[in-house]
Amino acid sequence: MKYWRKPLDLESIKASRGKVIIIEDRCKGCEFCVAYCPRDVLSMSQTFNVRGYHTPAVIDESKCVNCHFCEALCPEFAIYSIEATEEMQGETARSRRKNK
Ligand code: SF4
Ligand code: SF4
Repeated sequence: MKYWRKPLDLESIKASRGKVIIIEDRCKGCEFCVAYCPRDVLSMSQTFNVRGYHTPAVIDESKCVNCHFCEALCPEFAIYSIEATEEMQGETARSRRKNK
């Protein structure tokens, strides 16, 4: 997103970062979380869970802002997010570099 002006407190405010947890075997593959995540963090995977549904997968966790929207939408309580610590964010960045 491009701002038409720069907020005065941009340097002092730290954006919240999230870690997404998916309980795969609860998922029914409705794709709500994928379709409505405002940051395009998720995508449907090709693997099946025990119920025979495709489940979501995290494609870029560094984009997650811990808004809990996926959690609020999920009819099966199969996904939620927690605040990512700086250590977790470092791990995400390292695994992203490794996968390139
Ligand atoms: S917490 Fe928000 S940004 Fe993160 S995956 Fe869920 S909907 Fe997307
Ligand atoms: S909203 Fe819940 S049930 Fe639907 S695909 Fe996402 S995790 Fe699965």
